[in-house]
Amino acid sequence: MIDSPSLGDEALALLRELIRSACVNDGTYASGQEIRNTDVLRRFFDGVDVDPVVVESAPGRATLVVRIPGTDPHAPSLALVGHIDVVPVMHGGWSHDPFAADIVGDELYGRGTLDMLYLTAAYAVATRAVASEGRALRGDLVFVAVADEEGGSRLGIEWLMRHHPELIDADYVLTESGGVPVGGSAGTPHSVTVTVGEKGLARRRLLIRGIPGHGSAPWGSSNAGVIAAEAVTRLTRFAPRAVIGDYWPRYVDALDLDPEVSRRLTSVAEILGALPELGELAGYAHATTHTTISPNVIRAGDAINVIPGEASIDLDIRQLPGVSPEEVDAYVMSALGDLMRHIEIVDVVGASFSPANVSPMDTPLFEVLAEVIDEAYPGAVPLPIIAAGGSDARFYRAKGRRAYGFSVLSRRWDYGRFRHLIHGNDEHIDLESIALTARAIDSVVRRFLG
Ligand SMILES: [Zn+2]
Repeated sequence: MIDSPSLGDEALALLRELIRSACVNDGTYASGQEIRNTDVLRRFFDGVDVDPVVVESAPGRATLVVRIPGTDPHAPSLALVGHIDVVPVMHGGWSHDPFAADIVGDELYGRGTLDMLYLTAAYAVATRAVASEGRALRGDLVFVAVADEEGGSRLGIEWLMRHHPELIDADYVLTESGGVPVGGSAGTPHSVTVTVGEKGLARRRLLIRGIPGHGSAPWGSSNAGVIAAEAVTRLTRFAPRAVIGDYWPRYVDALDLDPEVSRRLTSVAEILGALPELGELAGYAHATTHTTISPNVIRAGDAINVIPGEASIDLDIRQLPGVSPEEVDAYVMSALGDLMRHIEIVDVVGASFSPANVSPMDTPLFEVLAEVIDEAYPGAVPLPIIAAGGSDARFYRAKGRRAYGFSVLSRRWDYGRFRHLIHGNDEHIDLESIALTARAIDSVVRRFLG
């Protein structure tokens, strides 16, 4: 590895600029304005022999692509796909300015540090290193700094796949959400997570009918808001049967827990009772073994003196691999039971169902990821996991491309802490993780395409 300390320094400097652009995406058409970050990246590639292409899916919703052609048309290509938008911040929730990119001790604070600008910066640094050294690669290297991941990708990867597929396509893809060390000693973990798949996404709206009336005489009324409250309670208590699957037992194994706790965590009958043993990891443990239903948008009533005759509840449902749309509706109906006589289930326009997706592990890229993990933490192996949430990987996997979530975080991280800070207050990353990841991505590119 040449010049490894400077890869981390370059990634840190670029990461701070990407944070300061504050490309906050609240899901609306005009938010994000990722063109601020494509401008940052265009400057980053100034003076290097590459030709960055910037395309806009809507005014200011820009994506930058750098493709370095390989010498062998039969060699597999690799895309490094990093989003450049970030989610909004909760005002008053931060102890640092979320867009100042302050370094405090050995940690960098800022919205997007962890999700996923540290990786986008590492991708850019690795790509520039290849170009500036004039290194010949066998297959194409594609760096995609993409808009609108946080808004559901409609103005990002989804739009690019429809309008410019040739720009962003590759046989193999790396993107966010891997890299958490698991188990082992304080110095060396025995595993590092690699995200090989994602749960599916189903969105449903419940339309609830009551009978409107005067708020002054509620006795005996059919208040749609009250029915909605009961529906939320039932949905929250409902527990579809756990599916332990192939990946979760490996994770439990890697955690080095008390054998009795491990046994309960991998038992369909006992897992729910054992979750509190896992602390911050419990939410993920539940999500990766269950189809989950979260009632997230609840509406009823317009006027304080009118009993509402209508209400609606939007459900964010994340289903396990193999669960069909009909099974999703069956879960909802069995949770609601006799309340269904007041309720109609309808699709939420635009994104009603996308299936779970998984990439295989017996691929040349996965082998390289294992080598690079061993390089960062001697003796450590990849721990394949299924993410609870979605990323741009699902669009590539739907086209048959192999996509993995990969990075290398420092020993201070565990998966509970990682998930807690993503989209949370005081999002931050330590400088060691920035350097480890910059070196790891550079090493993957050299080994896989070199
Ligand atoms: Zn992200």
